[in-house]
Amino acid sequence: SNPRPMKTALVTGAAGGIGAATARRLAREGLRVLCVDMPATKDALIALTSEIGGELLAIDLVSAEAPHKIAAAAARFGGLEVLVHNAGITRDRTLTRMSAAEWDSVMAVNLSAIATIDDRLDIDGLIVDGAREICLSSISGIAGNAGQTNYSASKAALIGYVRARADELATRGITVNAVAPGFIETAMTRRIPLMLREAGRRLNALKQGGRPEDVAEAIAFLAAPESGPINAQVLRVCGQSLLG
Ligand code: NAD
Repeated sequence: SNPRPMKTALVTGAAGGIGAATARRLAREGLRVLCVDMPATKDALIALTSEIGGELLAIDLVSAEAPHKIAAAAARFGGLEVLVHNAGITRDRTLTRMSAAEWDSVMAVNLSAIATIDDRLDIDGLIVDGAREICLSSISGIAGNAGQTNYSASKAALIGYVRARADELATRGITVNAVAPGFIETAMTRRIPLMLREAGRRLNALKQGGRPEDVAEAIAFLAAPESGPINAQVLRVCGQSLLG
């Protein structure tokens, strides 16, 4: 008798390009997905969960109630086997023009919120032994990207977080890895001015933007039970970046 009939996953930023592709990909694997994104994306989350099942949570990850709301949903799921920390933002500007708020908001979403949510889930015992945790870093965090000191710093710091957390959880068979995409065609990169978009494309040796589905495939690979020996790694999905 199997007390856990269906495996469960958390995907943050699930209304976005890479997040939605990942939620769909994991659902195809038979996972029940908790799809989390901003309140303003609720309609997209409803459409997504009516397509793939699972549950939705429309909440700002930086808000004080987010960790508890996510933990409550994870408890309803009976714990989490897969965690995909995918939500992320850019506030691109050269450093002299960048406001303190732009620096802080990128750090808060791309880095601190992940630690705060993981901490809550750890305390409540909601990450099952043998779980797979995957964080979305970026080639920008490895190579650095002009106009993105805040974003590059947050994505580089996330790699340090992943390595240290992998070390902390290793005895429980939990793996923690990062995926570092190059330039992927999503809403995030559509917001980038044309000149910077061209610079972004140079971060991807394929000379074209990758697709969200390419990243979802790498995430699904790391999320698989068979990926147990792969831990504390950074998997680049960039068609062999010319930089970094
Ligand atoms: P996207 O903008 O399409 O999706 C990001 C999603 O995160 C959005 O739906 C947004 O609403 C959500 N989000 C942002 N802040 C949130 C918050 N405070 N609370 C809840 N949800 C929040 O972007 P994407 O390209 O799909 O990016 C997904 C991840 O991949 C990000 O971490 C990004 O940094 C990373 N990444 C993207 C690229 C790329 O080229 N697109 C490259 C490297 C890394």
